[in-house]
Amino acid sequence: MAAGRDEKRYDSTERFTQYGCGQQAVDDATGRSVPGQVNHSGTGAGPGSRPIIRVLSATTVARIAAGEIIERPASVVKELVENALDAGALAVRVDVRGGGLTLIRVGDDGTGIPANEVRLACQRHATSKLASDDLGSVQTLGFRGEALPSIAAVAELTIVSAADDGGVGQRLTLRDGRFVIDEPAPRPRGTTVTVRHLFANVPARLASAGRAQTEIAQIGQTVRRLALAAPGVRISLLIDDRTVLQTTGANDLATTLIEVYGQSLAGSLLPLGPLEVSGARVMGVVSGAEVTRPSREQLNVVINGRWVQPRGLLSLIEAAYRPVLPRGRHPVLALIINTSSEAVDINVHPAKLDVRLLEERVIATACGNLIRTVLGQRPIMLRERLAVGVAALRSPISLAETRNEYDDVAIIMTPGLPDLRLVGQVQGRLLMLEGSAGLYLVDQHRAHERILYERLIATHGGSAPEPVALPEPLLLELRPAQVARFSRRLDDLAALGFECEIFGGRTFLLRSAPVLPGVVHGEMLHGLGEPGELVPALLGLAADDMDGEGWRERLLISLACRTAVRRGRPLDRPEMRALVEGLGRTGAPAVCPHGSPLLMHVSETVLEREFGCE
Ligand code: ADP
Ligand code: MG
Repeated sequence: MAAGRDEKRYDSTERFTQYGCGQQAVDDATGRSVPGQVNHSGTGAGPGSRPIIRVLSATTVARIAAGEIIERPASVVKELVENALDAGALAVRVDVRGGGLTLIRVGDDGTGIPANEVRLACQRHATSKLASDDLGSVQTLGFRGEALPSIAAVAELTIVSAADDGGVGQRLTLRDGRFVIDEPAPRPRGTTVTVRHLFANVPARLASAGRAQTEIAQIGQTVRRLALAAPGVRISLLIDDRTVLQTTGANDLATTLIEVYGQSLAGSLLPLGPLEVSGARVMGVVSGAEVTRPSREQLNVVINGRWVQPRGLLSLIEAAYRPVLPRGRHPVLALIINTSSEAVDINVHPAKLDVRLLEERVIATACGNLIRTVLGQRPIMLRERLAVGVAALRSPISLAETRNEYDDVAIIMTPGLPDLRLVGQVQGRLLMLEGSAGLYLVDQHRAHERILYERLIATHGGSAPEPVALPEPLLLELRPAQVARFSRRLDDLAALGFECEIFGGRTFLLRSAPVLPGVVHGEMLHGLGEPGELVPALLGLAADDMDGEGWRERLLISLACRTAVRRGRPLDRPEMRALVEGLGRTGAPAVCPHGSPLLMHVSETVLEREFGCE
């Protein structure tokens, strides 16, 4: 018993130091609500509003899809992190040792469990999450009251939990199904559950557990999925004291996706939606077609805050976007679907991995179309769907110029691009070039966007030519509510080269603009862009109620995007050359300011592979 007590003290002090996410995390946190979240935003149940734990009735138990939920270490991690999220945690830390067989510990800063309920929490079918016995209205990740008792049956389980900010909680240890410790312990509000010696008493399960590396991989996958379902929660995973995953809880799906799958995704993620369909709200992020995966592993669907593998839905979605991806490839995807709890049946799978949407087909079709539209807008796809690229190469009709295309043979040399020779314009939207390493396609609109954006940034930094006076000042007519905000930004706008003055009432005059190649003064790119869009972009700024640095960045991007040459616009050769030359002088000639790719390379290797090289 003495040993047990020592061990207990070690645990609770460790919680204070290592799991210092309690109060601080709450203070740090923004408290913003989480899109795609039902109640993981941390704004859910407060200490006062937490429902009590009660034992489910026998009839409810019988209706619940039962199953062995603790199959391997990753199942323990999943159940414990889900409990933390259900408790409204803003920070969750997962520690794993020995592939999870030695130790799994999950600490959170959620609502905690009141001292007099900790024992009950470990009882089978005891839950605080089913207020009535109505399984149809479940809003939480857990609801069966099975996790803690199931874990306690196959491991030593210690819970330290406090449900208020008094600094004292309750600690309870269950060993061989018996309570060996149950007494007060220091703890800021929140819960830490420690699971030791998993499966030590179940030799068969122990034997079937994989090597530590296999279990760690499973645990990693589990935590990544949970992190994607809860982008507003800071989640960290430490394997043998090494941090292998850390999300910032930034509450932004694209950010979480990059934190989870790596920096290589940055710059290639495209927003999906939001879209309303059959009472469901769908939004998400998908990788551009240049980033694909050989398996479905990184397809993430989160329905009502729960990461799921809805088989029916997934296969319908895949069928819809299949035509725009190479065979056997899958995108990186996070799709958030929120709908009423009545519109989804979560009680169809023991591990709650599959769910059934009542309007599955309609929702899937809409999701598929959404993804297909976004992926299909990207010329980069030609790289992997070579058949399309080849067709374009073969068909002279699709080239803007056919006869004179090799007249202008001067190589375009720039610091940022390989030496290139212009072939011509394809489909009125792409420039085709060749270099020693193969073919290149450049999206004319995005290329121009990139050039304009960098010019605007340079203007801001003071290194660009003087702004040019517009031949005629442009009139900006604001709404009353916008006047004050816009007036405050006149100095900043002037620093960017946009000299605006008050003309009277709600009207402003735009007198000058920075040098925007092809829009306002630009030697070779004359008349290429859309000067008429300057005013709407500036008016957009007046309507933008974000303060701080954010608006400037957005203004620059929106100016570049609106005024850049449109797709579908035929270009002459000097214009095409000027675009490529301008692009090659920018800092990032492969992506537009929104982060989308604009340059595609069909390498020599790909050409040889496709056409042979005897
Ligand atoms: P379920 O999650 O299905 O309710 P569990 O066995 O996982 O069942 O947990 C039982 C109860 O213990 C939960 O309903 C909840 O009240 C409480 N609980 C478990 N983990 C936590 C936690 N991390 N924070 C707050 N309460 C918790
Ligand atoms: Mg649970």
